Amino acid sequence: MAKPKNVVVVGAGIIGASIAWHLARQGAAVTVVAEKSGGVATPASFAWINASWGNPEFYFRFRRYAMEGWQRLAKELPDIGVNWCGSICWDMSLEDMETYTTQYGRWGYGIRRINRDDVAALEPYLSQVPAIALRIAEEGVVEPVAAAQRMLAGAQARGARLLYGANAQGLLQEGNRITGVATTFGALQADHVVLAAGAGAAVLAKTAGVTLPVETPPGLIVHSRPTEKRLNGLVLAPELHMRQTAEGRIIAGADFGGRDPGEDQQAAADRLFTKLRTMLKGADDLALDFFTVGYRPTPKDGFPIIGKAETHEGLSVAVMHSGVTLAPAVGLLLSREILSDKPEERLTPFRLSRFG
Ligand SMILES: Cc1cc2nc3c(=O)[nH]c(=O)nc-3n(C[C@H](O)[C@H](O)[C@H](O)COP(=O)(O)OP(=O)(O)OC[C@H]3O[C@@H](n4cnc5c(N)ncnc54)[C@H](O)[C@@H]3O)c2cc1C
Repeated sequence: MAKPKNVVVVGAGIIGASIAWHLARQGAAVTVVAEKSGGVATPASFAWINASWGNPEFYFRFRRYAMEGWQRLAKELPDIGVNWCGSICWDMSLEDMETYTTQYGRWGYGIRRINRDDVAALEPYLSQVPAIALRIAEEGVVEPVAAAQRMLAGAQARGARLLYGANAQGLLQEGNRITGVATTFGALQADHVVLAAGAGAAVLAKTAGVTLPVETPPGLIVHSRPTEKRLNGLVLAPELHMRQTAEGRIIAGADFGGRDPGEDQQAAADRLFTKLRTMLKGADDLALDFFTVGYRPTPKDGFPIIGKAETHEGLSVAVMHSGVTLAPAVGLLLSREILSDKPEERLTPFRLSRFG
């Protein structure tokens, strides 16, 4: 029997976890190296699973494929906690709602127009109800750190080594071949290295002369103390996107990706939380517990970077925004590509080489 491919995955956020799970499931010998188990951007995420408004068709289709991937993952790991709660959205003009419904409806997205009574029935705790909104029942959420931990535990149960608290300092290289990773736990040799290190990936790639054009805009999300059930699904109102977590916290951003809080982060969080309170009936007792400012690993053109690096043997990269939505697709496609050595067609638009 051939020796299993030895793959080192740098990063244990939602992306590294998914890649590790899919690799281990297919029999690879996996080592995960990460400073933080559960990730860095991942714990600060709003974690909405969607193929929503404003994307070109190829990317819509990829996101939709990833949404189906969450259904598959929920069968492979039944306690992964994905919740298809659906969304209500009215954070756009009536004209944009019309375009969104027509275009995405034609593409097969389950989107429909609803009225004030429908919104009130779906979310009875809302104090401000729009006359018209859009309902997308097929969107969902997941608690991203718990889901990442579940995939990592699944990988470990299939023999993966998890090295947490380890800092990856650089890629090891022989000619054009990546042969491993130098870490604070020593050098790790590998047949293949995957950089799933979020905002930390660019620095590591640079050690082998690979440039990753990635930006890291900040995003503020406020978290209430756990409270009784007040929201059934995702609520995407103008300047306030919110949902209730499995733990009972109401979390919100001015946008799902959060916004830059500026210099006075506490003041920005207090303002956002006041807005959240005014959107909910009987929320005077609702208290802000904490806020996060996450740095979103975002490739310069907004689309993910996924796939083998064409300039180097033995190296793949997976860096992106919308990583919570995309994780199951990234894990499946990239693991197949690494283990089979055949390019995955679905990854063609997302390769690093598009940046030239
Ligand atoms: C405010 C906010 C809202 C968001 N909302 C959504 C949303 O609604 N829907 C959605 O789909 N996406 C959303 N995202 C994006 C999504 O959360 C990210 O794309 C995703 O979490 C990225 O996961 P990751 O595993 O690539 O990175 P991270 O979670 O950042 O994990 C990186 C990992 O790499 C490790 N690492 C980095 N450098 C090194 C090193 N040198 N050595 C060792 N380990 C290293 C870290 O310790 C960590 O384990 C949001 C993000 C933010 C911040």
